[in-house]
Amino acid sequence: MSLEKTIAANSAYIGRLAPSPTGCLHLGHARTFWFAAERARAAGGVLLLRNDDLDRSRCRPGFVAAMIEDLRWLGFSWREPVYSQSERLALYRGALERLHAAGLIYPCNRSRRDVAGAAGAPHESDRQNDEPVFPREWRPPAGAPVPPLPPRGAPITTNWRFRVPDGEIVSFSDNALGPQRAMSGRDFGDFPVWRRDDVPGYQLACAVDDAALGVTEVVRGADLVRSTFRQILLLRALGATVPQYFHCPLMTDAVGRRLAKRHDALALRTLRARGMTPEELLGQFEKTSRQ
Ligand code: GLU
Repeated sequence: MSLEKTIAANSAYIGRLAPSPTGCLHLGHARTFWFAAERARAAGGVLLLRNDDLDRSRCRPGFVAAMIEDLRWLGFSWREPVYSQSERLALYRGALERLHAAGLIYPCNRSRRDVAGAAGAPHESDRQNDEPVFPREWRPPAGAPVPPLPPRGAPITTNWRFRVPDGEIVSFSDNALGPQRAMSGRDFGDFPVWRRDDVPGYQLACAVDDAALGVTEVVRGADLVRSTFRQILLLRALGATVPQYFHCPLMTDAVGRRLAKRHDALALRTLRARGMTPEELLGQFEKTSRQ
């Protein structure tokens, strides 16, 4: 996989690093961000830093400072300012209103647990997926009047879901993984765009930000390929430009499990405290990406 491939020299490349401050950054993040930095460097472009801090129950301010410090220690740089999603709520709310006006969302009081229960044993597409397909029979009928959103300033207290087009093939050409396609309504279903605790859904906030910040290529882990199909549908519905995508294969540990924040031994701060240098750490990614 050549880093330079597919990027025209001197294009106005804008990439982004988008960590969530829900724990300490680990080796897997460093690798994804190294790819993002290399892609931007090869294209003579810039990176932005987006702080994905919408989930109030899981994000801690201390992790924001820690993640910025870890990123600087690794030698990454980005164009200021840092964009914190919690400060961009009006933008997401505006997008929600546009989707509402277009009749593309509906209120839904089914919980994640209901959806998981209805799905029974996970089928193949769910295993690689973050959430099971929402049962079609739980949707309000197409064309039924959609209740209004609460006025701005009043909290949203119901989940709102995006109605995906049934049986439509959504495709994109991934700059790392090649052609990708999925059928909406079968491989993924209606998904939340706003939660009843008044938090915008990840898909909506991410799609809106990638468009609003002019991101030209999204570099992130391959666990988010399924989300990309959803975000493409949202971007289209909002009339926004769809960026390019580069999904890095995920790092796994010695027994093949995906690296997660709970693997504290691989937290960048632990490695740093043990005397590892940024050069050693990033050097290994350079070697493996050339293989
Ligand atoms: N904040 C998300 C995460 O850490 C990444 C979102 C993205 O890159 O689109 O998983």
